[in-house]
Amino acid sequence: MARIVVVGAGVGGLATAARLAATGHQVTVFEAADTVGGKLGRYVHDTPAGSFHFDTGPSLLTLPEVFHDLFEATGAKLDEYLDLAPLDPIVRHVFPGDGPALDSCADPAEFATRIGAAFGDRAAADWQRLWRRATRVWNASSRDILRRTVDSPRDLASLAWRVGDLAAIAPGRTLRGLGRRYLSDPRLRMLLDRYATYTGADPRRAPAALVAVPYAELTFGGWYLRGGLGTLADALLTRCLDLGVVVQTGAAVTRIDAAGGRVHGVRLAGVAAPVPADVVVANVDALTVYRDLLPHPRRLAGLTDRSLAGFVLLLGVSGNTGLAHHNVFFPRDYDAEFDAVFGDPGRGVRARPAADPTVFVTVADDPMVRPAGHEAWFVLVNAARQGTATGAVDWRRPGLADAYADRILDVLAQRGVDVRDRLLFREVRTPADLDAATGAPGGSIYGTAGGLLRPANRGPAHGLWLVGGSSHPGGGLPMVTLSAQIVADEIGPAW
Ligand SMILES: Cc1cc2nc3c(=O)[nH]c(=O)nc-3n(C[C@H](O)[C@H](O)[C@H](O)COP(=O)(O)OP(=O)(O)OC[C@H]3O[C@@H](n4cnc5c(N)ncnc54)[C@H](O)[C@@H]3O)c2cc1C
Repeated sequence: MARIVVVGAGVGGLATAARLAATGHQVTVFEAADTVGGKLGRYVHDTPAGSFHFDTGPSLLTLPEVFHDLFEATGAKLDEYLDLAPLDPIVRHVFPGDGPALDSCADPAEFATRIGAAFGDRAAADWQRLWRRATRVWNASSRDILRRTVDSPRDLASLAWRVGDLAAIAPGRTLRGLGRRYLSDPRLRMLLDRYATYTGADPRRAPAALVAVPYAELTFGGWYLRGGLGTLADALLTRCLDLGVVVQTGAAVTRIDAAGGRVHGVRLAGVAAPVPADVVVANVDALTVYRDLLPHPRRLAGLTDRSLAGFVLLLGVSGNTGLAHHNVFFPRDYDAEFDAVFGDPGRGVRARPAADPTVFVTVADDPMVRPAGHEAWFVLVNAARQGTATGAVDWRRPGLADAYADRILDVLAQRGVDVRDRLLFREVRTPADLDAATGAPGGSIYGTAGGLLRPANRGPAHGLWLVGGSSHPGGGLPMVTLSAQIVADEIGPAW
């Protein structure tokens, strides 16, 4: 039995802790915030009409098998803890102009039929061709990347990919390039491009292999958890406590102790005595690990290409707007949005809030999250991370966040959804707020942007492991849960 310290109680940290405790280890989780869940955050706003409950982070759960596996591995059944509701449409896509919207769903044949009805037979045939390619990419990556450690470019190169797998993955091609090659309809290209933002990346630079992301969503489905996605954090905490994990909130780790090539424990803010450990699992951003907790210039050097952040509005809306659960309102000029939120640091072009951004609106039809006759809206817009560097925006600048919130509500009104006169309240969450709440540097949601090769799970000292969205295999709830599985498997059982 090893003494294991997990730094951070995000989904990746809790999932690793539960798996390790279930295999006999003595596990303690230190969480800097007062609550667990990390980016899977929640906010409750009370009004005379009743309480509004918001998820401030994830709104879509994909790859439910990954969560079933997690609960099973810890001796429980997911359905006893969580109430999964399949979504159809998964996302309603609203494009510029007066054309039809497109509802995505988890049945590829049905989705092709919907594409055909909305945009014509050629668009449907294009999508089906892309889908055959996406299937090959998914099969290769789910087999070789998502369930094992990938520590270096050499590891990636030595995977047992067949020639056909490599041709499908097309390491040199971008997601934008793939869309151009397969899709003639500009609306479908936009739809595909958007999946780059699931990893915080620009589709013009993100690898074509990200076509595996829509494949997973539109094959295995998109899900809501009744009561809100945040119920996943409650469930994981309960599993941990039932398995004997000690979870200490309000406990910030300031250093990981390592000497002689192996970890020895951690230091906590305001506590003089070191906490000894045989194994340390860091669920914080890799940048925080290698810059602050265990400085390591070589590992830090690879972490400069930061992912996008998000600008969030939480709205209490009176009445019923008839929106779908998830709605994406695309802009006329998608590239102008990416130019704005990434800037072009190489040419000295500063990042800025996009004037006419894509707006993602989530409205759960769930009586548990809003008073009768009202809606709780989660509105998300891609945004540059917090900071003063060329590729960042200083969201703390007085007046900026409020002015941008006004702008987003105006944009929504221009796209046919005007709720400006129906707001009971609005709360704004900038990238700076996400940084403050979860320690995500600059509020970057996914650590580094995009690529297939992410910071390795295996740390530079023996006994140090990285888990979560900024490390392999990447961000998003299923990926961080897979990263927990990879790390727990590598550490192995106590017996
Ligand atoms: C706005 C938004 C929308 C999203 N939408 C989706 C979606 O629809 N679907 C989806 O699957 N994913 C979505 N995601 C991504 C998803 O939320 C994350 O990938 C995932 O929750 C990250 O989990 P993690 O394990 O990396 O830990 P994190 O959530 O990053 O948690 C890390 C934890 O470590 C703690 N910590 C930091 N520093 C220290 C320290 N020094 N000592 C102790 N504790 C520390 C933090 O407080 C935090 O609790 C979204 C994220 C955001 C922000």
